[in-house]
Amino acid sequence: MAKRKPITKKTRFEVFKRDAFTCQYCGRTAPEVVLEVDHINPIANGGDNELMNLITSCYDCNRGKGKRNLTDKEELKKQHEQLKRINEQREQLKMMLEWKNELIKFNNEQINIVQELFNSEFDCNFTDEGKKRIGNAIKKYGFDEVYESTNISITQYDDANKAFNYITRICETRKQQKENPILKDINIIVSMAKNRCSYFNAYVIKDYLKRHLSPDDVYGVTQIASTTRSYSDFKRNLEVYFETEGEF
Ligand SMILES: [Zn+2]
Repeated sequence: MAKRKPITKKTRFEVFKRDAFTCQYCGRTAPEVVLEVDHINPIANGGDNELMNLITSCYDCNRGKGKRNLTDKEELKKQHEQLKRINEQREQLKMMLEWKNELIKFNNEQINIVQELFNSEFDCNFTDEGKKRIGNAIKKYGFDEVYESTNISITQYDDANKAFNYITRICETRKQQKENPILKDINIIVSMAKNRCSYFNAYVIKDYLKRHLSPDDVYGVTQIASTTRSYSDFKRNLEVYFETEGEF
């Protein structure tokens, strides 16, 4: 005959918790009744101490004195399936929570690495708000991009605040350039022309070039930008080159 292995305290607690501390036969709960753990498939029939073979029963029901209907096995089985699903849901929630905590931990580690890189140039730490911004940027652009953009920003700017603020802007620009390679050429052309003019509306020119510039035009328009004398001169030359009229 199979030897009865004791059910551990931990298992008993798991079963009670799963069954909401309620006798699954009569519906009475602790502390009104004393609860026990019952084997659905008895040990004598080959049942084991797995959670799924265990069910919460009150003292009376477990000894056949309660309202327990032993012939109504189908109902019990159905009830048990339901519990199994609830238990599975609970397990999944727990897993999801752990997974989220892992992600938060991982995100924090990545923020710290960006902080270290920033510290290699500036002796100041991110505020909580700053950490949040970097964390969001990592989520949006990926860690590698944020790291690379931080590197670019701290090399380019002498002011810590400015360098910090430009990290996300550089991420965004690089993302747009990757999605649309001509943007990189447009940015070069615009900054080239802008440097030669006292007044310049970069927004308007970028908008125009986005509509007209193709890779074949990059050389010609770069020439125009490198010899431009004023904003109005630049606009006029663009309209001549692209044969447009009144677009500005
Ligand atoms: Zn009971």
